[in-house]
Amino acid sequence: MIQNYIFITGGVISSLGKGITTASLAAVLEARNLNVTIIKLDPYINVDCGTMNPNQHGEVFVTEDGAETDLDLGHYERFINTKMSRKNNFTTGQIYSEVLHKERRGDYLGSTIQVIPHITNAIKEKIITGGKYYDFVLVEIGGTVGDIESLPFLEAIRQMSVDVGAEHTMYVHLTLVPYINTANELKTKPTQRSVKELLSNGIQPNVIICRSSINLPDNERNKISLFCNVPKQAVISLKDIDSVYKIPRLIQSQKLDSYICKFFKLTTPSANLSEWDTVLYEESNPLGKVNIGIIGKYVVLPDAYKSVIEALKHGGLKNRISVNIQLIDSQDIEIHGIKLLEKLEAILIPGGFGPRGIEGKLIAIKYARENKIPYLGICLGMQLAILEFIRNVVGVKEANSTEFMPNCKNPVVYLIKDKNKKYTTMSSQQNKLIGNMCLGSKQCKLTSDSRVRQIYNAEIISERHRHRYEVNNLILKKIESFGLKISGRSKNNKSVEIIEITDHPWFIACQFHPEFQSNPRYGHPLFIDFIKAAYIHKNR
Ligand code: GLN
Repeated sequence: MIQNYIFITGGVISSLGKGITTASLAAVLEARNLNVTIIKLDPYINVDCGTMNPNQHGEVFVTEDGAETDLDLGHYERFINTKMSRKNNFTTGQIYSEVLHKERRGDYLGSTIQVIPHITNAIKEKIITGGKYYDFVLVEIGGTVGDIESLPFLEAIRQMSVDVGAEHTMYVHLTLVPYINTANELKTKPTQRSVKELLSNGIQPNVIICRSSINLPDNERNKISLFCNVPKQAVISLKDIDSVYKIPRLIQSQKLDSYICKFFKLTTPSANLSEWDTVLYEESNPLGKVNIGIIGKYVVLPDAYKSVIEALKHGGLKNRISVNIQLIDSQDIEIHGIKLLEKLEAILIPGGFGPRGIEGKLIAIKYARENKIPYLGICLGMQLAILEFIRNVVGVKEANSTEFMPNCKNPVVYLIKDKNKKYTTMSSQQNKLIGNMCLGSKQCKLTSDSRVRQIYNAEIISERHRHRYEVNNLILKKIESFGLKISGRSKNNKSVEIIEITDHPWFIACQFHPEFQSNPRYGHPLFIDFIKAAYIHKNR
């Protein structure tokens, strides 16, 4: 089976939405019955995203097989049906560490190790392995053309055309066409410069996608076509829009998918975007609105909660309710108290690490529990829900987690004891701190009389994990006798996976991250039900 590769580079500036554009293009190709996957190449030196600060880099997206990856993989899974894995994201750091490992082992038989061919070969190998079994492999290169770090990646993708044949490789360049107010004009010069930069790396783009605040007029399209040596129908306009889920239609309306199929000499049915049209209909015809608060600690960068935010919106789509999300810093609650929560119709506490802001989150949980406000706790949000319950309902005031008080006696939450947990990262073997981290998909059994069992409409579910602490089983009997129900456990019965408070309209918290499996077309049962509960609460 021969793969067709589409390489996507970015020009002029970062933050043009290369990830979303790549994902949307893949969605349109998938809608033509093609089997599509996407690989993200990240030029930074970190080996993976596991240890990167969410305030700087955004969320860490976790795949089924437990890789801690770039948040773009979340976009990919929200737009196409193919599941991502650790084969779909790699970094300069990972490439170098593997090449150096081989060098130390003597695999290169004494040769001089160089960027070309050793690093570029390693990059190409990763692309080929990740793309096996797919008709189309979209490869997004992180960063902007001209960055020092991306040079080996650009060189590798240039070589790919020689290796697999120009007829199986296409280069798509995404650039900015800025609108200059004083001149009342869109400017194509930055795009021309950027293409020139790409040419200096030996890559002639086949398609240019132009981000701009307004539609690209014919004149500018002609100019870009002429100066950048690209047919006019391959200059695509991507104007600013209010919803990312409109992009597949926007791309398809300019026939980019037909152009690509023609380029690769493929005959396929035309793109069936009816599911996307439904999403757009749901989005633009809401019947109501709810205010949801996310109480977090990485709120300066909303991308730190990207999948949670998207999952809430998807829950809204399936209920035809528009979701207004307020990101609230839990440390602000410590200062200003519950008045910050008063306008909310539901409260969500997402994942997080470390002691900062914990007290504020506990205040928010107490407020949601006592005032019967729908509450969804995710990972840390579940551990804290249990902690709050033990302190304030069971009455054990000194209860704590060893994450916040390492020497606390009889902890409620402690480091995962089972060192042989199946899912660990590659880096974890060398790092004591993440050596016992539970990562990736795990099955969970839901109790027959629980609310979550009804919500999921299934007994066994599979959800993704990312945590190194877990609930102490010795406390369970006590909390259950006070009305906090353990409604799901791991399949081996050893770990608490999901809890609910029975005497509350909607109080559910889980050890796993349901947000990673939500997508706009189908939503996720927990988020759909949560938004419904918020709406009911609002109208009570
Ligand atoms: N810090 C907690 C743990 O490691 C929760 C992690 C999370 O919320 N993802 O268990």
